[in-house]
Amino acid sequence: MDERDDWSSFSWHCPNCGDLVTGYKNREGFIKVECGTCHSVMVRRLKTHRHNSIDIFTPIGIVEMMV
Ligand SMILES: [Zn+2]
Repeated sequence: MDERDDWSSFSWHCPNCGDLVTGYKNREGFIKVECGTCHSVMVRRLKTHRHNSIDIFTPIGIVEMMV
């Protein structure tokens, strides 16, 4: 069994609307997800086991950033 965590799924709540989103990590450690509810695009970067970041891109004209 391959122990690498490539392609494992990550789920979190969209910071904009609160809906659950699920994405898959690519080989660079990035997870890109588009929220199906508010269409915000989130790029999550796993930097270390203790530090990851999420960039949120809210589409202009659809909803306003609520955070
Ligand atoms: Zn959302």
